[in-house]
Amino acid sequence: MSLTVQNITKSFSDFAALDNVSFEAHSGEFLALLGPSGSGKTTLLRLLAGLDQPDSGSVTFEGEDYLALNARERRIGMVFQSYALFRHMTVEQNIAFGLNVRPSKDRPSKAEIKAKVQSLLKLIQLEDLGKRFPSQLSGGQRQRVALARALAISPRILLLDEPFGALDALVRKDLRRWLRRIHDETGVTTIFVTHDQEEALDLADRVVVLKDGQIEQIGKPLELYRKPASSFVFDFLGTNNQVTATVSGAEAKFDGFTAPAVVSGELTGPQVVRFRPFDAHLSKDGPGFKGKVLSILPAGANLRLELQSEDGTVFETQHAHDSDASDLALNDTVYVKPIKVYVFGN
Ligand code: ADP
Ligand code: MG
Repeated sequence: MSLTVQNITKSFSDFAALDNVSFEAHSGEFLALLGPSGSGKTTLLRLLAGLDQPDSGSVTFEGEDYLALNARERRIGMVFQSYALFRHMTVEQNIAFGLNVRPSKDRPSKAEIKAKVQSLLKLIQLEDLGKRFPSQLSGGQRQRVALARALAISPRILLLDEPFGALDALVRKDLRRWLRRIHDETGVTTIFVTHDQEEALDLADRVVVLKDGQIEQIGKPLELYRKPASSFVFDFLGTNNQVTATVSGAEAKFDGFTAPAVVSGELTGPQVVRFRPFDAHLSKDGPGFKGKVLSILPAGANLRLELQSEDGTVFETQHAHDSDASDLALNDTVYVKPIKVYVFGN
């Protein structure tokens, strides 16, 4: 069941928090809204949930005017970063809440609600903790309960606003995989808000990149990575290095060597070019530009180097542990040769 957002604008006083935003979430899709703090993500989710109204634009669900429906009629499940569970209710009571508060004509029977809660407890793998209170759960377990509560009403759309934002890195990674599995099992159309690019690229079928209330790019994770539409998208997807080179066609000329260039638009002559930490080759004698090793850090299965060029610019490069980079020591001089660069006019 697809959701279509068209030309949505929302201002607070004369500040445009959302400026002509359009996208579609396909039926069963896992869509991430990715953008820095203040880019309008929460504002957008609130409009979708019916907690606020846009100044202009339309939202339709399966062709039906969603903006004309109140929050409850939209049947949306929501989880926020700090959506506190009801503290005086057990886990089971929390999950059952959305069903228990329905008017009696729409409310399932007690037995049906009980069965639904049990199946959700099983889904979130907390079958034995139904009688506990939120204070007796870890942060990760609480967010799992919050998700079960959102799913209890069989939502047409699930909206998640930085649901793992308050949790530590290890738990976040764990919950990420778990959430994707739950999504695949339930098939519910999901919009997941995050400012964490790794989280978005890891989880989502497609990613909508927001900047200052406008969409910068919409694409599959790999498309964003391979064909970033702007320097903003490129920079937002990870650590980057900038250097000047002379661009002509699909080539960037450096002092003594060239590198293939992915050029957006018609750009020639001296340009700022960008390269990713992985797209750098190191050698003892060049060609390349000279850098001094400032730090050597293990980064999971890789080695991360910080290098400082003669003009003081700091670069970050990444290499496999078994590469030549593993022979380097602090303060060594090495030549850095980008093997692929990106050039943007915007
Ligand atoms: P994000 O969730 O991406 O961090 P928000 O949607 O919360 O961003 O906010 C987008 C912008 O709109 C911010 O500059 C924020 O200060 C502003 N904003 C959000 N809600 C309000 C409000 N109720 N009144 C005034 N400004 C707001
Ligand atoms: Mg927000």
